[in-house]
Amino acid sequence: MRVARTARRLGVHVIAVYSEADAGAMHVEYADEAVCIGPEAASESYLNIDAVIEAAKATKADAIHPGYGFLSENARFAEACSAAGITFIGPSAEAMRSMGDKATSKSVMEAAKVPLVPGYHGDDQTVETLARAAEEIGYPVLIKASAGGGGRGMRIVEKDGDFLDALESARREAMGAFGDDRVLIEKYLTTPRHIEVQVFGDNHGNAIHLFERDCSLQRRYQKVVEEAPAPGMHEERRAEIGNAAVAAAMAIDYSGAGTVEFIVDATDAGANGPFYFMEMNTRLQVEHPVTEYVTGLDLVEWQLQVANGNPLPLAQEEIALNGHAIEARLYAEDPARDFLPAPGRVIAFEMPNESADVRVDTGVRSGDDIAVAYDPMIAKVIAHGPDRDAAIAALDDALADLVCAGPTTNQAFLRRAITHPEFVAAALDTGFIGRNEKSLIDDREETLRPALIAASADVLRSRHDDAAKLAARGSEPGSPCSVPDAWRANMESREVFVFANGDVEMSVVVAHRGDGIYLELPDGSTARLPQDSPAGWKVYRSTNTQFAVFAGTQVRLDRVVALEQAAAQSGATGNLNAPMPGKIVSVTVSVGDKVTKGQTLLVLEAMKMEHAIKAPADGVIAEVFHKDGTQVEDGVELLRLEPLED
Ligand code: ADP
Repeated sequence: MRVARTARRLGVHVIAVYSEADAGAMHVEYADEAVCIGPEAASESYLNIDAVIEAAKATKADAIHPGYGFLSENARFAEACSAAGITFIGPSAEAMRSMGDKATSKSVMEAAKVPLVPGYHGDDQTVETLARAAEEIGYPVLIKASAGGGGRGMRIVEKDGDFLDALESARREAMGAFGDDRVLIEKYLTTPRHIEVQVFGDNHGNAIHLFERDCSLQRRYQKVVEEAPAPGMHEERRAEIGNAAVAAAMAIDYSGAGTVEFIVDATDAGANGPFYFMEMNTRLQVEHPVTEYVTGLDLVEWQLQVANGNPLPLAQEEIALNGHAIEARLYAEDPARDFLPAPGRVIAFEMPNESADVRVDTGVRSGDDIAVAYDPMIAKVIAHGPDRDAAIAALDDALADLVCAGPTTNQAFLRRAITHPEFVAAALDTGFIGRNEKSLIDDREETLRPALIAASADVLRSRHDDAAKLAARGSEPGSPCSVPDAWRANMESREVFVFANGDVEMSVVVAHRGDGIYLELPDGSTARLPQDSPAGWKVYRSTNTQFAVFAGTQVRLDRVVALEQAAAQSGATGNLNAPMPGKIVSVTVSVGDKVTKGQTLLVLEAMKMEHAIKAPADGVIAEVFHKDGTQVEDGVELLRLEPLED
């Protein structure tokens, strides 16, 4: 989507590729043309070089932009493009090869006099040599897989006695992940900042930098929040680190967009501490929008210019820094469970108000699935301001406004992170999240009560709406007898709503009294509707699961309902949905059948029990969506019932 937007603006015809799982994806819809390149598994589609090249040939594509994942740093893919006469939008295969391996890239950088972290990156991989190197560097040390990426195959070793075990396990992980168990050893910095420099080269011998980004907010060695410029960095140091990055690009005749990553020892001087080359990414990076904001440039446009053989659009001295920008990555993951990916369906996705200072990059819409097969990133929210405080405020507002109901996400976590006093004071280092984890994770107790009130009110409201619709169709429109809310004329009534949040079940007693509806909550308190409805809470629903959302915080409440009731409820508006996942044992009606209220229409088997789905009202079967034996998900529409024509 990111690349397609710029291409479209420049009048370039856009051809997308997609896997079978992505047939309905946003980028497929947006592109001028789209080609399916294989099944869901990335290895058979997005990583399948032959399939991508075939698609390009079939559609007569002139060039391929590889994006920022999958094949974007694959030298063989770049070669396959040129062999097919297609322009690869990126650097040469040789440049990619020399930077693709951490050990090789260090040798190249050493020759170019770019400072390296004290360490060992030699070919001799014997245990004795590696152990001796660790001893000489001095503990703590970091073992890294030479072929590494994504933090895999990385081990911190605190002391001599732990080295052999750590080496063995790093090698095992590296072999499994990359099929290559070579490692290198670095001095482990205890208070590091990750500062990287955006570089650009062309095919005319020019290379420049577009300033730095600070990506020190990380979990599991992966970035979550990035900003530009690096807070606290002096002009002089900015020029030094920028020049070192340009030297790195020059050393490999770099062409296109790239990023030189440095690790800065922030112990004494913060961003101005000593910096060391870590690795170079030979592609556009996920966090490039912060650089676009502070330079006012479109980096994808530059990539297309360079790939087209044009010189860089600007010279170094023509590029200026303007203000501050911060990006937060919204992930389908659970911060409370060590950031484990949490795939699922996005029930509702609502953008914050976009403005010149707020941008959301995403390929996800309401109704899309965050698939297990791919990266769990949902969106990037980026904000810009005249200074860092303004950027933080704008980003926080945007994160509060954005709605992503459905999967568990890190949205509330991100808000807490960027408003944390340490972050606001720019006291950054890569240990920030680990150190502050407790205070960054949602306080469940605080959000549960308003969520329960909002969810209960939502059930009552939608039940009332459904009943009104049904009554309008039935023989006695408006009769209070047809409103199934336990309402009794002149009588007080009580009913219980049971909600489950994770493993915890909670009951809300709903008391309908003469003067209104009262909710008795699990904490013993009472709330009156609508007066005590918590302000700002919105509820999104998928069958019997409700997502109560407030300013970036989401509480999932699964309503535990009796099955007959569930069927009756879902049937009230004419649709009959599966109240739970199960197998259809038999469909007892066909299209056109007249049925009477209470008649069994379909039998569903779930959790080893059979459940009859009954007609909620008299009507005609308009559609039957599934056959006997079909496995259906929770909430799937089973049949459609239409009212009888008079
Ligand atoms: P990968 O390619 O697997 O992402 P990197 O070499 O880019 O690995 O390092 C990822 C992260 O690990 C860095 O951003 C930093 O937080 C941490 N890291 C890397 N090297 C060191 C080091 N020598 N000392 C302390 N932390 C480090």
